[in-house]
Amino acid sequence: MDSPATDPFARTRALFELPDGVIYLDGNSLGPLPRAATARIRAVMEDEWGQLLIRGWNAAGWMDAPARLGDRIGRLIGAAPGTVVVGDTLTIKVYQCLAAALEMRPGRRVIVSDSGNFPTDLYMAQGLIGSLGQGHELRTVAPEEVAGAIGDDVAVLMLTEVDYRTGRLHDMAALTAKAHEHGALTLWDLAHSAGALPVDVTAAEADFAVGCTYKYLNAGPGAPAFAYAVPRHHGAIRPALAGWLGHEAPFAFDPDYRPAPGIERLRVGTPPILAFAALEAALDVWDGVEMADVRRRSQELSARFVTEVEARCGGEVTLSSPRDIGQRGSQVSFRHAEGYAVMQALIAAGVIGDFRAPDMMRFGFAPLYNTMDEVVRAAEILSEILSERRWDRPEFRARAKVT
Ligand SMILES: *Cc1c(COP(=O)(O)O)cnc(C)c1O
Repeated sequence: MDSPATDPFARTRALFELPDGVIYLDGNSLGPLPRAATARIRAVMEDEWGQLLIRGWNAAGWMDAPARLGDRIGRLIGAAPGTVVVGDTLTIKVYQCLAAALEMRPGRRVIVSDSGNFPTDLYMAQGLIGSLGQGHELRTVAPEEVAGAIGDDVAVLMLTEVDYRTGRLHDMAALTAKAHEHGALTLWDLAHSAGALPVDVTAAEADFAVGCTYKYLNAGPGAPAFAYAVPRHHGAIRPALAGWLGHEAPFAFDPDYRPAPGIERLRVGTPPILAFAALEAALDVWDGVEMADVRRRSQELSARFVTEVEARCGGEVTLSSPRDIGQRGSQVSFRHAEGYAVMQALIAAGVIGDFRAPDMMRFGFAPLYNTMDEVVRAAEILSEILSERRWDRPEFRARAKVT
């Protein structure tokens, strides 16, 4: 175990519940439980819901929580107060922001994305195009070809900054500038960026951004998502999901929709207060943490992992992430023809990563709780599994529903 003197993140590691005997390299998919979340949820249940009942909406600040939590996330992604709102799932937030952006570019019909984008983002675009019925087109190119695909017919550039499989990192500022030169708007998905590396949506001049809170932000399975819009667009957003809590005056119960003045028009319905309790506790861990420190440590951890794996596993696995640490987020992937079975054997040995079809073993690095010793040990265990072919068993080949 690294000592507190050599591990600047010993303080934050102690704030997580991490099972004994487990090296957790899957916080890019589901962050671990912040210890304080349990008591926090209990307090919200017993003291707020239990005692206040309906009064909690006002007395416990439930109604303002989406904007309040949004501001706390804003600090981690370079967003000004009043520009981020929390709620719903990332899939929904993609839909809302894409719909708003398309409507702000009425003369244009093209959405550019890349083949590294997460399927749900692409599916949302396909579904939206279908219901709009205006002949929009989703143009999906290889990640390296995105810049070249931005022309004057593009309405929206919709990208995930860090590729969920390979960890490849897009240049948000440069691609946004290029999109703007051509009159297009940008929608950035920060699912694998928020809490993983420094993000500055303001400096990058992103138009819209979305992300989830259950990956590097550690707010728990199904935790709510967030959406950002640059303030100058707020007045122009016409919500496709015109929910009552995005209304200017929800409790006027006006039969006609009028959007709230600011980012709150991207709210939809009643927010998940119990899930917010876990998010609040998860965000407390980030207080006092600088993203530049996280980035430095994440690069040390992932670089060491790559070095150790390549030195120990020879040609058995192939790095599918960019080799340059400046070109990737906080995860690395290795290919192996039997990657699924190898990952199951790793998990059985206490090293938890995950698998993405067709052949990628994925490992996430979260400086808040991962140590250098764990990274080295994980590479050692991987090399033993490979050299002894411990993955070559029928039970490791049986595919589970979630990989
Ligand atoms: C994890 C992830 C999602 C998941 O969306 P949910 O609505 O939370 O299920 C969407 N997009 C990207 C890019 C992701 O990485």
